Amino acid sequence: MAYSLAQRNWEVKVIDQAPGAATGASGNSQLALRCRLFQTDSELARFYLHSFLYTQRELRQLSKNNRINFHNCGVLQLVGAMNKQRDLNPNKLKKLYNKQVMQTLDVQSASRLANCQLTEAAYYFPLGGWIDGSLLCNTYLEHPSIDLITDQVVSSLKKNDNQWQLLDKEQKEIARAPIVVIANSYNASQFQQTYQLPLTTLPGQTSIISATDQSLSLATVVCGNRTVFPEIGKHHNLSASYRREDASLELRPDDDQQNLAGARACFREDYLSQVIQSARVTVRCNSKDNFPVVGKVPNVSKLQDHSMLGGHYGQIGKISSDYYLPGLYITAAHGSNGLATCPLSSEYLASLIDQEVPPFGQGIIDALDPARFIIREIRKKR
Ligand SMILES: Cc1cc2nc3c(=O)[nH]c(=O)nc-3n(C[C@H](O)[C@H](O)[C@H](O)COP(=O)(O)OP(=O)(O)OC[C@H]3O[C@@H](n4cnc5c(N)ncnc54)[C@H](O)[C@@H]3O)c2cc1C
Repeated sequence: MAYSLAQRNWEVKVIDQAPGAATGASGNSQLALRCRLFQTDSELARFYLHSFLYTQRELRQLSKNNRINFHNCGVLQLVGAMNKQRDLNPNKLKKLYNKQVMQTLDVQSASRLANCQLTEAAYYFPLGGWIDGSLLCNTYLEHPSIDLITDQVVSSLKKNDNQWQLLDKEQKEIARAPIVVIANSYNASQFQQTYQLPLTTLPGQTSIISATDQSLSLATVVCGNRTVFPEIGKHHNLSASYRREDASLELRPDDDQQNLAGARACFREDYLSQVIQSARVTVRCNSKDNFPVVGKVPNVSKLQDHSMLGGHYGQIGKISSDYYLPGLYITAAHGSNGLATCPLSSEYLASLIDQEVPPFGQGIIDALDPARFIIREIRKKR
């Protein structure tokens, strides 16, 4: 987000509670760039496709300047792991995704690309790959117009004249600005202005194992029940467990074992080492409908006075800007696809802030709008 604003000549302060940048989910040492697949065309299907293509272009560009190293090795998503409830229909997928984006491969072709024996056919994303998330964040933050302020927990936000004040838990001011973008993931609904946004927390543990002589030659990212990345420094990242029942951030041997089992199930032979070297727990943030929450922060009490919405009731695109809090924006709930969705979402918010033409149409804007949850609640109560 900061980079998109800095590119437009804004002076940006990034306030982070951690002692350094990229200590959260974005800092995982291998993040896969893949496209979330849909069977039918929709605004959200298009958003995920545009996001994937946008990030791919941006990573290639940054790599050309030798600032980062995007490993454009392709991603194979095993068909069985994609959707356990409902098989995806390859003919429907073909209508939405051209061959440059996604190809359905039988198990032999997929195995040839991965350079190992896979257990299943796969969806292949030739433009996909992986990136060191921490390096990417730090590269963005190197922009001279970005100032990173660490060890500061923002506890509340207060409007004072035309400025938003960011306050710590003692109500001491950390910073103030006319424009604030809330981008603190699973904590994004901690504020009085955002607490009605239904965000959920889903911690996940990644496990690192040593590479074996065989697994050193793994040539693509393989996503099954777990994602297995090609070797880096003679290790593989196995990503990641899902702690649905509790939000604790402790490292757990059980999660390592689940990661190992899920990763090993992708391969026909005894391909991966079983020795865990280290692990890391970070947190995904999802929304109630499992799509990102990106846009202006709604003025909930004003929206709830739905008689004021008149004939436009329920049509997000027609709600006037009076129903949003001036200068306050949010980008959150990027789920398990943040590498694809965060950069284009940031471009969208920067375009709103800079009053440019947005990078996508009103349908996508409405589908991401944080006000959608409030509108749905109001509709239910009618
Ligand atoms: C284990 C795991 C594996 C993943 N793998 C992939 C993958 O392969 N590909 C992919 O596309 N996506 C993946 N994701 C998802 C992706 O990492 C996220 O969608 C993305 O990183 C979200 O970015 P973010 O900036 O919203 O959150 P984060 O990266 O978590 O950043 C939030 C920041 O907010 C700070 N913060 C929180 N509260 C406060 C506060 N009150 N005051 C100040 N600072 C605060 C935190 O310190 C942190 O730096 C994975 C997620 C997890 C958990």
